[in-house]
Amino acid sequence: MTWDHQNADIVCQLFGVCCKLVLRNMKLTKKKRKQDGSGERWLPPQSQGPRRTIRRRTSLRLKFWFERTQIGIMETPPSDKSISKRSLRKKSGSRNYDENLMDEIFEEHLGVALKKKHKTKQDLEKETEIEAMISFSVGFPIDALREDEIRAGVVRELGGKEQNDYIVIRNHILAKWRGNVRKWLTKGEIRETVSAEYEHLISSAYDFLLYNGYINFGVSPSFTSHMPEATEGSVIIVGAGLAGLAAARQLLSFGYKVVVLEGRNRPGGRVYTQKMGCEGKFAAVDLGGSVITGIHANPLGVLARQLSIPLHKVRDNCPLYKPDGAPVDKEMDSDIEFIFNKLLDKVMELRQIKGGFANDISLGSVLETLKMLYAVARNPDERQLLDWHLANLEYANAGCLSNLSAAYWDQDDPYEMGGDHCFLAGGNWRLIKALSEGVPIFYGKTVNTIRYGNNGVEVIAGDQAFQADMVLCTVPLGVLKRKAVSFEPELPSRKLAAIERLGFGLLNKVAMVFPYVFWGEDLDTFGCLNEHSHKRGEFFLFYSYHTVSGGPALIALVAGEAAQTFEYTDPSFSLHRVLSVLRGIYNPKGIIVPDPIQTICTRWGSDPLSYGSYSHVSVQSSGSDYDILAESVGSRLFFAGEATSRQYPATMHGAFLSGLREAARIYQTTQVRQNNPRKYMLRNIGSSNDIVVDLFKKPDLELGKLAFIFDPSSQGPQSMGLMQITFGSSEESHLEELSELNPIKLPLQLYTIISREQAYQLQLITGGDECRLSYVTKNIGLKLMGSNALVNIGNSLIASITSARRGRGRNRLPIEQHHIP
Ligand SMILES: Cc1cc2nc3c(=O)[nH]c(=O)nc-3n(C[C@H](O)[C@H](O)[C@H](O)COP(=O)(O)OP(=O)(O)OC[C@H]3O[C@@H](n4cnc5c(N)ncnc54)[C@H](O)[C@@H]3O)c2cc1C
Repeated sequence: MTWDHQNADIVCQLFGVCCKLVLRNMKLTKKKRKQDGSGERWLPPQSQGPRRTIRRRTSLRLKFWFERTQIGIMETPPSDKSISKRSLRKKSGSRNYDENLMDEIFEEHLGVALKKKHKTKQDLEKETEIEAMISFSVGFPIDALREDEIRAGVVRELGGKEQNDYIVIRNHILAKWRGNVRKWLTKGEIRETVSAEYEHLISSAYDFLLYNGYINFGVSPSFTSHMPEATEGSVIIVGAGLAGLAAARQLLSFGYKVVVLEGRNRPGGRVYTQKMGCEGKFAAVDLGGSVITGIHANPLGVLARQLSIPLHKVRDNCPLYKPDGAPVDKEMDSDIEFIFNKLLDKVMELRQIKGGFANDISLGSVLETLKMLYAVARNPDERQLLDWHLANLEYANAGCLSNLSAAYWDQDDPYEMGGDHCFLAGGNWRLIKALSEGVPIFYGKTVNTIRYGNNGVEVIAGDQAFQADMVLCTVPLGVLKRKAVSFEPELPSRKLAAIERLGFGLLNKVAMVFPYVFWGEDLDTFGCLNEHSHKRGEFFLFYSYHTVSGGPALIALVAGEAAQTFEYTDPSFSLHRVLSVLRGIYNPKGIIVPDPIQTICTRWGSDPLSYGSYSHVSVQSSGSDYDILAESVGSRLFFAGEATSRQYPATMHGAFLSGLREAARIYQTTQVRQNNPRKYMLRNIGSSNDIVVDLFKKPDLELGKLAFIFDPSSQGPQSMGLMQITFGSSEESHLEELSELNPIKLPLQLYTIISREQAYQLQLITGGDECRLSYVTKNIGLKLMGSNALVNIGNSLIASITSARRGRGRNRLPIEQHHIP
C-alpha cells in the first residue's frame, strides 16, 4: 500500500461521517431520478427488505442508510440467519465497540507522526489533512469557521490568511485531544508543536475550544488535578441530570464555585438505571434514557471512552409479530414499511409546496388524509402493520401524532448523530456516577422559587435559601409547564409562550427480569402489533438488555395514546397484559415464558420532577421555541436541558451538550461583566452591604429590634419598604435559636421586603420582637434574607429609596421618621 492509499484508507476509516455524507447525497439524487421516471408506483423495489427504526424519527433516513466502516468495533461473525436476503443492510452479528482500540489507532496513525521531530513538508501536509478530517468528524468545517467561532471573534479579520492559520491550529488542537481524550491537553503542549509566531492564534483557538467544551470535557480522573481555585464567581445549578452535571463539571474546571440543588435523592434525572432481579440474577436496566442514538461525534461516546466502558451496537434485526403472536409475513412487512416511508416522503413534498403547512396542522391529520387519498393499508393486517410504524414514530417523539406539528416535527433531522445506535454496558448510570463524582450536589432540595436581579440570584428550596451570582435552571420542560418553579421577576412573556407551545410527551416502560433468556440471544429488539389503533403503542416494541445489563432483562415500551392510559392502569394488570403478549408469541414456538423475577412499570408522566418523558415540536410550535427556551434572562438566569437544544432535543447527548453550552455562556457573561463592571452595577449604588447599612442608619420606623425604611416617593398602604431585624442579643430565646446561623455571635442582620400596610399591622402586635417576628414569617408569610439577597431581589426598590432620599436631602425635606399612614 502506498502512503497515499494508506492515508485515504485511514481517512475513510476514521471519517465514516464524511464518506457517508457524500454517499447519502448520491443516493438522494438517484432516488429522485427514479421517482421522476417511474411516476407514482407505491411498490417496494425488489431489493428492499424490512428495516426498523429504533428511536429514529423517520425511516426516510434509513432508506439512504448504509453500513459505514467504523474503527474501534470488534465484529463477530453474523449469527442471524433470519435476516432477509433482500435487506440492504449488511448482516450484522453482535458487535462490541472497544473504545481502547480508538487510542491504539490514533497512536498508530497520528501519534508517531506528531512525535516526529523533523517532519518533511509532505509529512506536515498529510498531518494537516488528517487533522482537518478529525475536526470535520466532530462537527467543524474543514476550511471554514463555525458560526460560534465567528461570534466569539477568534480572528481579527474574516476570510484572510489569519483565518486559515487559525483553522489549521484549531484542527491540530482538536485532533490532538481526540487522540487521547483521557488526558487534559494543555496550551503548553500545543506550544511545543506550533511555532511561537502563532502564539495569539494558539491562545484564541485553545481558549475557544476549551471554554466551549470541545476539548478537555468529560470525566477523566486526571482532569481533577486541573481544577483551578474558585475565583470566577458562584453558580447554583438546579437539577442534577445530564445537563446540570455537564455544566457543573465545566464550571468547576473554569474556576467557579458551584452547587447543584437536586429534588431527588439521586443524580441522573431522566437517566435512571435500576438494579433489578435477585442474587445471581441481577440486571442493570435503564428506566429512562437508554439508547445512545448515533455514536459518531457523540459526547457520550467520549465519556464511555474515558471510562473504558464498552458499547453494544443495537442490532438491526427486529422481527414483528401479529396480535395473535404469529410472525408477520415478510413480504407484507416490507411492503408496508415502504408505504410508511412513502407517506412520510409525501408529507415532505407537501411541505415543500408553497408555504408548507399551517402551524396548526398535525402530522397525524396529514398522514390520515394521505392514507385515505392513496387508499393504502386498508385490510386489518396491513392497517395493524402501518399502525406499528406510526407507534414507532410516536415513541421517537414521545407524543401522539395528532399533537406533532406537520410543519416542524422533524426539524432536528439534519443534526442527527451518525453511526450506530448503542447500549452502554452496565447502563447509563455509569456515566452519571462518573459525572457526579466531586460535584457538590445537595439532594432532596426541590426548588420552588428562583429570584434573580441585577446583582445576583436567590434560589429557594423549601425553607432554605441559596444565594449566588448566577443560576442555571435545568428542570425538565414538564416542570416548567406546570409552573412548579416560580420565577421572580416572572420570565419574559416570549419564554412563557414558548414553554406553553413546545410539546412534552410521554413514553413509559415495563422492565422485567426473567429467570433466563427465552427470547433468543441474538435479538436486541422485537415488535408486536396491536389490534386497535388507539392501542398501537402498547408494548409495541421490546428491547432485550441481556447483552449489556448482566442479566436476562427485557423492556416493553408503551408509546403514544397507550402511554397516557398506562399511567393510570394498575401495574398488575399491565404485567398480565405484557406477559400474555409474550406468551402469545413464544408459546406456539414451544417456548415457555416464565414469570418474571421482578417487574417495574414507569410513570414518567406523574413524576413531579419531570411530568413527562421528553420534548417534541407540537402543533403551533417550531424549532425556534427550543432556542427561546435556551435564552438567558438578564445575564443572571440561564437555562439548559434537552428541551433547550434545537439540534438534539429529546436525547441524552442533547442534554449533555446543552450543559456545556450554558457553562460557556456563563463564562462569557462573567468575562463581559468583569470587563464592563459599570454596565452591570446599579446606578448610584455601591457595595450591597454598604447601601443597605447606610439606609438603615436612618430608619423610618423602629419597633424593638425591627427597623423599617420606606420609599418616600409613594405613601400608599401598598407601597413597599424594607424591614431589618438584628439578632445577637441573648435576651430573646427564639431569636437566639435563629442566631445559630451566626456562630461567631456578631450582630446578624436579616431583611425582608414589606408593605407599609404590613408594617402597620406589626405595630399592633404585642408581646415583643419574638411575637412580631413570628407574625412576619407565619402570618404574613415573608422570608428573611441576607443583605446580598436583598440587594439582588429588591434592587430597584433600594435604588428608588436611595435616589428619593438623596433628592430629599437636596431639597432639604424633613425626614419623616416613624411615620406609617
Ligand atoms: C422513558 C424515557 C426514555 C428515553 N430514552 C432515551 C433514549 O433511548 N436515548 C436518548 O438519547 N434519550 C432518551 N430519553 C431522553 C433523555 O433521557 C433526556 O433527554 C435527558 O436525560 C434529559 O436530561 P436533562 O438534564 O435535560 O433533564 P433531567 O435528566 O430530567 O434532569 C433534570 C433534573 O432536575 C431535577 N428537578 C426537576 N425539578 C426540580 C426542582 N424543582 N428542584 C430541583 N431539582 C429539580 C430532576 O429531578 C432532574 O434530576 C428518554 C427519556 C425517558 C423519560
